[in-house]
Amino acid sequence: MFKILSQSKKSRARIGKLKLISREIETPLFLPIATFGNVKGLSFEEIKKIGYQMILANTYHLYLKPGVEIIKKFKGLKNFCGWRGPILTDSGGFQIFSLKNTRVFEDFVEFFDEIEGKKHKFFPEKSIEIQLNLKSDILMVLDYFCGYPYKKKDIEKSVVLTTKWAQRSKIFFEKKFNFKKHSRPLLFGIIQGGIYKDLREKSLKELLEIGFDGYAIGGLGVGEEISKTFEIVDFLTKKIPENKPRYLMGFGSLEQILKAIKKGVDIFDCVIPTREGRHGRIFIKTQKFKYKIINILNAKYKKDKKPLDFKCNCFVCQNFSRSFLHHLFKIKDPLAMRLASFHNLYFYFEFIKEIKKAIKKGEI
Ligand SMILES: [Zn+2]
Repeated sequence: MFKILSQSKKSRARIGKLKLISREIETPLFLPIATFGNVKGLSFEEIKKIGYQMILANTYHLYLKPGVEIIKKFKGLKNFCGWRGPILTDSGGFQIFSLKNTRVFEDFVEFFDEIEGKKHKFFPEKSIEIQLNLKSDILMVLDYFCGYPYKKKDIEKSVVLTTKWAQRSKIFFEKKFNFKKHSRPLLFGIIQGGIYKDLREKSLKELLEIGFDGYAIGGLGVGEEISKTFEIVDFLTKKIPENKPRYLMGFGSLEQILKAIKKGVDIFDCVIPTREGRHGRIFIKTQKFKYKIINILNAKYKKDKKPLDFKCNCFVCQNFSRSFLHHLFKIKDPLAMRLASFHNLYFYFEFIKEIKKAIKKGEI
């Protein structure tokens, strides 16, 4: 299911091939975020044109809007949204701490939808069932992270619940699919434990006993010191079995991604390229694996005839000037956000492509 094609001699970076129900994809892999089944401002034609193989969609958001019943009528999210490639769905676990007024119980989490004024109970089984209805290629188990800042006892609780819910998710999933069968979606476990190595070790050990297709590292990059983040990434990537894909959730900046790839992480997702793009912040290459971010709204770009980035081959940089993009942002044309998001996602894709080349050549 996961095969390592190339292993760096200089670091723990690797190139892998992950066999999914619909196709094989190559790692390291970055997933653009399609929370509601759309990458904000961009068409899937554009996402595909850049080269992206897979997107991430959010279970809880899609459950609210448009609702699972509608997606079921289309026989899955791909038919509904028009993305033909593989999809990874998160479980709703992240929303436990990112959304307000959420209550966690022993067996389920209760979300409060402020817009409708309704409560929604999410059991671990329910999250899996929704993800199966979305026809996801990689399903994530419902996990629990208490949010930052935290005390060790809060993290202890998060590990206990995460293991319990992971166990229940696996049992439910196995009722639908024989786990040894090849043509089934993949199920990933999520390791919790905050910045505490003993709790991370406990969480991983318990998940390994249950057995998953891949292992995600959750609850990092939420406010803790970045040196602690990487201590945990380093610690866990040495312990997750070599033959399993490793996914660092919700991460990160490109220098952090490069660092994590060197430690053996395979999969990433992050809102940075599109969110920054929507605010006029543009990635510009300075040298190999180095870049800066400019704010195109800055007055100094008003008369700048240069492309966004001389070194970029994307259609935005080939066709438009900084001056024109500055103008589009000033007149608040939605095209501004689209062009900026496209360039930034292209930039992320090319950056990771360059990392892959460097791994193959044994440079990193
Ligand atoms: Zn560009």
